[in-house]
Amino acid sequence: VAEESQITNLNLMFGASGVECNELVTTLSSEATTFDIIQSIIKTKPTEIDSPFSVLDLRVVIDLMNKWTTNLPTVKPFYAVKCNPNISLLSALASLGSNFDCASLAEIKSVLSLGVSPERIIFANPCKMESHIKYAASVGVNVTTYDSVGEVEKIKRWHPNCELILRIKPEEETGAQFRLGLKYGAFLNEVPKLLKAANMAGLKVTGVAFHIGSMGANAQAYSGAILLAKTVFETASQLGMPKMKILDIGGGFSSGSKLDEASLIINDAIKSYFENEENLVVIGEPGTYFAETTFTLATKVIGKRVRGELKEYWIDDGIYGTLCMTLYDYFIVTCSTLKFGSKHENVTCKDTKTYPSTVFGPTCDSTDTVLKEYPLPELEMNDWLVFSNMGAYTTACATNFNGFSSSAKNIYIAYLS
Ligand code: PLP
Repeated sequence: VAEESQITNLNLMFGASGVECNELVTTLSSEATTFDIIQSIIKTKPTEIDSPFSVLDLRVVIDLMNKWTTNLPTVKPFYAVKCNPNISLLSALASLGSNFDCASLAEIKSVLSLGVSPERIIFANPCKMESHIKYAASVGVNVTTYDSVGEVEKIKRWHPNCELILRIKPEEETGAQFRLGLKYGAFLNEVPKLLKAANMAGLKVTGVAFHIGSMGANAQAYSGAILLAKTVFETASQLGMPKMKILDIGGGFSSGSKLDEASLIINDAIKSYFENEENLVVIGEPGTYFAETTFTLATKVIGKRVRGELKEYWIDDGIYGTLCMTLYDYFIVTCSTLKFGSKHENVTCKDTKTYPSTVFGPTCDSTDTVLKEYPLPELEMNDWLVFSNMGAYTTACATNFNGFSSSAKNIYIAYLS
């Protein structure tokens, strides 16, 4: 467990200089869990600590990268920055060899500020603002996705040396909480027109991209989408266009055993459908995979109301902040408690009697309810609720509604000394 002396204010590793956030570095023994780290931070800084705060556990990022490389050795990761643009996470991923999927000028800027070369960035937004395209051209980000003739015209005008990747719509997006195919991706019958439009504009189409949908997507969908991509490679050849080389299998990955399942399906499909494709470059755009389990959120109890057996609490983060994903039924909340209130007791409450509890966020909107009838031990003001898996589309989507800023500004970084 991290000791007080080990919790330092170094702010050195993966330096967050110039970034508007309170990033501290916590060193710890290899056995310490993220919960231990949070307990230790609260215990050692009970009065100074700004709540809410998150811990970014770099050990998890390293493990995830190792697992990716083992499971998908032929798929180059391009981390989807939108999922969590925390600069220390980006920096860690860059140093672990990841490339980046950026959707906007700001995301490109952020990645370039780390010294990452523009060849390691794909501008993976099929509909870009003209000013962002001009910026990409000026800094040498030369690969982008498209799925409309209008986009071809914009790229031809503002970035004529840019390579294009045609985004197609997978036939299946079952299970996905976020079905990106509702908005993006060409239908198969639109492919010839889109390929010809790029060709006529003098732009090179070097590959095909798809996204099977985020969070909970059925991994079997990768197989169908890879087959679909193969037919687009063939269509381009039939039209006499230069040979394509990039297969971009998008995001939709989760950590744990779900990656094992997806990897088997993907490796199999690439082998079956692209076996004879020499010089094929396969890339993926994992966002959730790298961000979700790497951040843990600690929030403080700021209010309490007792109505018989029902206990109601207010905490200092909510659905307009880091906890926005808890709005979705798909998201399984993992919440532990830390009784660390006025008596400064150091008690985790896993084994004590629980009550059906409601937990509200801090804004005045009643929708801002994080937990309903959730079994919690009786809490007091200044106790803590700790939420795991709080890295994917959390701080990235947080608002300042009611004047509450998100917890993005208070991030502790945990790494092995
Ligand atoms: N790539 C693109 C183009 C996306 O739009 C997204 C998410 O919206 C991602 C990758 C990341 O997806 P995920 O978080 O499912 O890995």
